[in-house]
Amino acid sequence: MSLTALEARLVDRFGRVHDDLRLSITDRCNLRCVYCMTEDQVFRPRDELLTAAEIQRVGAVARALGVRSVRITGGEPLVRADVVDIVAGLAAQGFEDVALTTNGTRLEKLAAPLAEAGLRRVNVSCDSLRPDRFPTIRRRGRLEAVLGAMEAAEAAGLQPVKVNVVLMAGVNDDEVLDFAELARRTGRVVRFIEFMPLDAPGSWRPDHVVPTATVLETIGARWPLEEVRDPADPAPAERFRFADGGGEIGAISSVTRPFCATCNRLRVTADGAVRNCLFSDDERPLRRLLREGASDEQLAGVLVGAVEAKRAGHGIGEPTFIRSRRSMSMIGG
Ligand code: SAM
Ligand code: SF4
Repeated sequence: MSLTALEARLVDRFGRVHDDLRLSITDRCNLRCVYCMTEDQVFRPRDELLTAAEIQRVGAVARALGVRSVRITGGEPLVRADVVDIVAGLAAQGFEDVALTTNGTRLEKLAAPLAEAGLRRVNVSCDSLRPDRFPTIRRRGRLEAVLGAMEAAEAAGLQPVKVNVVLMAGVNDDEVLDFAELARRTGRVVRFIEFMPLDAPGSWRPDHVVPTATVLETIGARWPLEEVRDPADPAPAERFRFADGGGEIGAISSVTRPFCATCNRLRVTADGAVRNCLFSDDERPLRRLLREGASDEQLAGVLVGAVEAKRAGHGIGEPTFIRSRRSMSMIGG
């Protein structure tokens, strides 16, 4: 594809280079996590979601604009029947990294086909290691299936598996050491995520957040930690290794230690809207353009415009902060 008319890089007003695309392929899910969805979550009609071919076009345009890594997300990406074909198509476009975030409930069977299709890495969400507590947070699903899926992913070569843990005060913050122990025992990179004001029920409050500082203090008192600094890794997760060599954990501190200054992410929702931030409702629709036969240059212009308009930061905690109209699963986490 030739995009000669355009600067083939997505650089914003603050010099941030956007080379990481979060591509949501569905807003549907087979779980209803309390921090994400309502019990009776309404999903978009299927004809409003991008088709596999439309997703490939978006991927190709992003690739031509310098995007190097793509993460497939949702909703739950593995509820989409054509997910393996989508991965294969994106992998064939020459991204350095094709990764996927999943709730793990359908990963056990799909890990091998996804790896064969070119998936490099997988993040599996799991917010409790207690079989009785797990369904109270995720409302459906079984812990055993998710733990089995992590093993299947490792057996398929999708390593290291990262485990996403959303901590909520008074709900699962008593499991921090259990998750640290899981990281030490299995070599999985457990990432503690601060609860963000993106839940569909709208019940988020600042005091529900478990600050990263507390998590590090709890783990560090038991197993001393050292920060891992890797300038080549712009990932939002702060990384820490156990000082005794026992593995690594991460922290995604969107609320208490925002990483906006180094944000390299651009998002496309399952219904084809480009978003330059999880928390900003500046959305630029691609679906209509895709269906009306727009050129690659026109599509690229939408991505470039979204990046040019990106704000310096998300502003959580500031008086001007307004919650996004869309919740996490409607955007793509
Ligand atoms: N369904 C897949 C899953 O659960 O991994 C992928 C989509 S999910 C929206 C992506 C990530 O966002 C998950 O790790 C999930 O735990 C996280 N997440 C969802 N709602 C969140 C919230 N309000 N605050 C912080 N993280 C959230
Ligand atoms: Fe589904 Fe993932 Fe949201 Fe949970 S966090 S409801 S698994 S999309």
